[in-house]
Amino acid sequence: MKFICESAPQGLRIPTAALNLSHIPYGGKVELHTLDCALVLLKGQLTAPELISVAKQLHNTAEELYAHLAKVCGPCEGCEESGCPYDALEEESIDLPGYLRQEAGIPEDAKLCAKVHEASGSVIISAAGYRHDLRDVPLELLDIFGDAGSCLGELEEHMILEDIIYGS
Ligand SMILES: [Zn+2]
Repeated sequence: MKFICESAPQGLRIPTAALNLSHIPYGGKVELHTLDCALVLLKGQLTAPELISVAKQLHNTAEELYAHLAKVCGPCEGCEESGCPYDALEEESIDLPGYLRQEAGIPEDAKLCAKVHEASGSVIISAAGYRHDLRDVPLELLDIFGDAGSCLGELEEHMILEDIIYGS
């Protein structure tokens, strides 16, 4: 079950109905796990069956998020003609020694891209104009996308653009 709550400077009020649905008793301690972009609130004490159930549900939630992403990207229709990004993954790992990065003023964590200049037989390596691409996608998600025939080209686009793909 999903509740939409509004966060405020003084904190966040968890609706009673949400606590009841999650069987979190009043007056007891709760454990709040802070993740990047998410919070997980656990009942303060868990039995072994409860812990297993919580772990399973967290796993299911992760799968639902991946399924949402696959739905947003849709099925792949013809990425192959334009060069499926899946094949390019290997080629995209460009290494540049630290001193060259420094001299070129490219930050250490910046992604690199290469342009080939055929006429002069040279390659120009520069900082990519984005922070994320398919190289930041976990392998298990790439497998899920590959098996389901979901579009990696679309996924790459959303990684690069960092546009909102979840929530309203
Ligand atoms: Zn595609």
